[in-house]
Amino acid sequence: MTQSLTILGSTGSIGSSTLDVVARHPERFRIFALSGHRQTDKLAEQCLSFRPQYAVTADAAQAAELRTHLAAAGCPTEVLHGAQALIDIATAPETHGVMAAIVGAAGLPPTLAAARAGKTIYLANKETLVVSGSLFMQTAEQAGAHILPVDSEHNAIYQVLPPNKGYLKHNGVESIILTASGGPFLHTNLAHFPAITPAQAVKHPNWQMGRKISVDSATMMNKGLELIEAHWLFGCPPEKLETVIHPQSVVHSMVRYTDGSVLAQLGTPDMRTPIAYCLGLPERIASGTAPLDFASLAALTFEAPDYRRFPCLELAYQAMQAGGGVPCVLNAANEIAVAAFLDGRIRFTDIAPVVRHTLEQDISGSHQSLEGLLARDAAARRAATDYVERLG
Ligand code: NAD
Ligand code: MG
Repeated sequence: MTQSLTILGSTGSIGSSTLDVVARHPERFRIFALSGHRQTDKLAEQCLSFRPQYAVTADAAQAAELRTHLAAAGCPTEVLHGAQALIDIATAPETHGVMAAIVGAAGLPPTLAAARAGKTIYLANKETLVVSGSLFMQTAEQAGAHILPVDSEHNAIYQVLPPNKGYLKHNGVESIILTASGGPFLHTNLAHFPAITPAQAVKHPNWQMGRKISVDSATMMNKGLELIEAHWLFGCPPEKLETVIHPQSVVHSMVRYTDGSVLAQLGTPDMRTPIAYCLGLPERIASGTAPLDFASLAALTFEAPDYRRFPCLELAYQAMQAGGGVPCVLNAANEIAVAAFLDGRIRFTDIAPVVRHTLEQDISGSHQSLEGLLARDAAARRAATDYVERLG
């Protein structure tokens, strides 16, 4: 049977890699809908190649531009725009699977709606779980939605956990070990940190990714967000989550068992592997990833993370332990700080202080409803923005 897919954020790094895998298996997959926020040209190209029923842009002007482009090329794709249209393409009865590849909390409403509609969700948008972990997992369970982790670490863990994943302790799981590359500044002299530029920060040694997650990797906030993601996905208590730095990004993560065994998943760092794993389940399908060449691997090394170098990792760990709506505030403040850094408004070393300051504010809002979370997210963004302005 052909599987019909919606890709939220198709113009991004994960979205493009997903389409690359899909194109290798035309007999398996059909694209029902695509979405892109700003890159109308790229979205147009994707529509011409994959002929989806719908394409969604951010606003009406972009939609009009895309419509004209597609009509001239004789492409029948219907163009919609705005946040409700994202929810519509994520929940439409015609789509089986939803690739959640929007960046940031902006991905939450359509991803949560897909969960409520009982879809199979290929989850790249980790911010959804950071912001709304409890609500999202509960919603998915109630609706019978299937969540498959695309994030490489979580995909690795998913592959090496026992099949009955809900109850870690009854399966002899001692802990989950997330590997982290440490990003581009793992061995940079700390005295040089204040002068780090956006161009340096987005240049990741092993992975090609969007700008926001690249900065998160450089601060290691990414690993912090991933700890929270693992906590919710696998029902793993904070004290059973470990992080280890592994600069080569070959071991994508590990599970430690009571008998002393440690199971790992390895591969060339290429997101098409976890994407193909999720899309192909229960079968393994070709992804286009280069095979891992053991003879050319120099060494696989491991070291402990240093919170002085990576204060964001500690802030995220604390937010996970605090629970409730605190991770939502952490995420919102981080999104504001990273955007300000990428715009040249604050320094690299200001990112953690912006997040810390925002976490210290009294920000309320229920974490059990989308409305409460969005209110909390908005209040945290205001507090973080005020602080950024004071720093500037
Ligand atoms: P990206 O910046 O390359 O792409 C983001 C996509 O989201 C684009 O299609 C963009 O048009 C869309 N978008 C941006 N803002 C939006 C908004 N406000 N509303 C609607 N759409 C919007 O990002 P990416 O690197 O592909 O990452 C996407 C998600 O996947 C992130 O949550 C990231 O943490 C996660 N992820 C990425 C990688 C990776 O290798 N790139 C790995 C693991 C997890
Ligand atoms: Mg990851």
